[in-house]
Amino acid sequence: MRFETLSVFPQVFAPYLDESIMGRAQRKGVFDFEAFDLRRWTHDRHNTVDDAPFGGGQGMLMKPEPIYEAVDEISSMGEGRPYIVFFSPCGRRYDESCAERLAGEERVLLVCGRYEGMDERAYELADEVFSLGDYVLTGGELAALVVIDSVVRLLPGALGDDMSAKDESFSGSLLEYAQYTRPAEYRGMGVPDVLLSGDHGAVDRWRRRNAIERTALWRPDLLKGADLTPEELAFVREVIQRSNGGGDVDE
Ligand code: SAH
Repeated sequence: MRFETLSVFPQVFAPYLDESIMGRAQRKGVFDFEAFDLRRWTHDRHNTVDDAPFGGGQGMLMKPEPIYEAVDEISSMGEGRPYIVFFSPCGRRYDESCAERLAGEERVLLVCGRYEGMDERAYELADEVFSLGDYVLTGGELAALVVIDSVVRLLPGALGDDMSAKDESFSGSLLEYAQYTRPAEYRGMGVPDVLLSGDHGAVDRWRRRNAIERTALWRPDLLKGADLTPEELAFVREVIQRSNGGGDVDE
C-alpha cells in the first residue's frame, strides 16, 4: 500500500514512520510513503500558501490554488488515482472502521491543513474529511500519522507473527480484556488466578467476560454494535446496575 502526504511540513513524517513497527513494515514492503511539500506548487518568491480570510477575522487560511495544483499533479503520478483524505475538526470522526476501510485502498493521499484551516473550496477535492476528535490541533500532520499507523498495523505482514490486530479493542465492538505479565504479585497487587491456571478454555471465558464488563463500565456506547448472547446481555445489565449503585438500567 502507498501513502502520500501533502503538507507544509513534509519532514515531520519520516522520524516516526522510520522507527519500530512502521519502519520494519516499510522495509518489508508492506507500505511505502512519500511526503510532498505543498510549497512546491507555489509560484511567488515567498512560496506563499496562505492568505487572510474574506470577511475578516483572525489568522490565515490556506489558499486553494497550491492545493488544487498539487493534488492534480500528485494524482496523475504513478498508478491509479489515490483515495484523497483531508483533515478538519469538522470532519467525520475517525475510528477503527475507517482504518479497516482505508486498508482496502491501494493508494491514499493525506492532505494536511495548517493555520486556521483551508479555503472551503479545497475540500471539494476530498473523497473524505476526517476529524481525530473534539479538539483542535495546530496541523493535520499528526492526524495523517495517526491514520497511517492505524491502517498499516491492519495490513498483512505489518505486525510480527506473535502479534495480532484481531482481538484488540474495537474489533468486535468490545474493548480489550485486561492483561498482566510477570511478576504475579507486585506491591500487594495480584493477578486473576484463572490466568495462572493453564486452563485455556477458562482463560478465554474470563477474557470475554472481562472485555464485556470493561466495555459496559467505560464505553457503554460501543455495546450497540456488539454481538452478545442473552446471558451476556444479562451480565451487562448486572454490571451497569452494580455501577449505578443498584439503580435501574437505562436501556
Ligand atoms: N479553524 C479550524 C481549525 C484549523 S486547525 C476550525 O476551527 O475548525 C489547522 C489544521 O489542523 C486543520 O486544517 C486540520 O488539518 C488539522 N486539525 C486540527 N484539528 C484536527 C482534528 N481534530 N482532527 C484532524 N485534523 C485536525
